[in-house]
Amino acid sequence: MYDVKGNLHTILSTLPEGVRLVAISKYHPAEYIVAAYEEGQRVFGESHEQEIRLKHEQLPKDIEWHFIGHLQTNKVRYIVPYISMIEAVDSLKLLREIEKQAAKANRVIKVLLELHIAEEATKYGLTPDACRQLLADGEWRNMEHVRICGLMMMASNVDDEQQIASEFEQAADFFDEVKDTYFADDDSFCERSWGMSDDYTIAVRHRSTMVRIGTAIFGPRVY
Ligand SMILES: *Cc1c(COP(=O)(O)O)cnc(C)c1O
Repeated sequence: MYDVKGNLHTILSTLPEGVRLVAISKYHPAEYIVAAYEEGQRVFGESHEQEIRLKHEQLPKDIEWHFIGHLQTNKVRYIVPYISMIEAVDSLKLLREIEKQAAKANRVIKVLLELHIAEEATKYGLTPDACRQLLADGEWRNMEHVRICGLMMMASNVDDEQQIASEFEQAADFFDEVKDTYFADDDSFCERSWGMSDDYTIAVRHRSTMVRIGTAIFGPRVY
């Protein structure tokens, strides 16, 4: 096995106070998660509905599961009974479905709005304008089973650290705008989920509160 425990400690020791680690375990076997769990890690992220369901069934029930990938509306009902946070909400349609299914399950689901700032056209997410529109529309205010807790974003997959830093900075500025406009009195709107294996050291210098790290803990994924 990859040195999961050693890698985990190395990363945790470099994270500033106030930054939480979401260990991204997609495509890695349950025993890797157990290794991290034994060291005290409780928050894990997955991006496929079936994989996360199986792992949730097999593994300790005090694990906090985050769904981090693109989520199709027809999959929402499968994960809502146990998911703690859905990190990548990128449409009102998806938000409505989460509200509907969470109401049925009598749960409140924490969500992040996924912001698209990176230059790649392939990435999912809401542009700042689309995000402004979704919030201005106000329908979310009536959703009693959804709690919008902040923003999530992925920087461009490039070597240029300046560009990556600038994208995180734009996301942080946008967070402030949204916080001031809509969530000034809502303490649960506090999360800035950015930073992955290759760029989390930059992300934490640009106000990340939550890093999503897979490869640097568990090694390369075997697809
Ligand atoms: C896979 C994934 C990660 C983790 O990526 P690593 O480079 O392995 O750290 C983080 N965020 C999202 C949305 C992912 O899909």
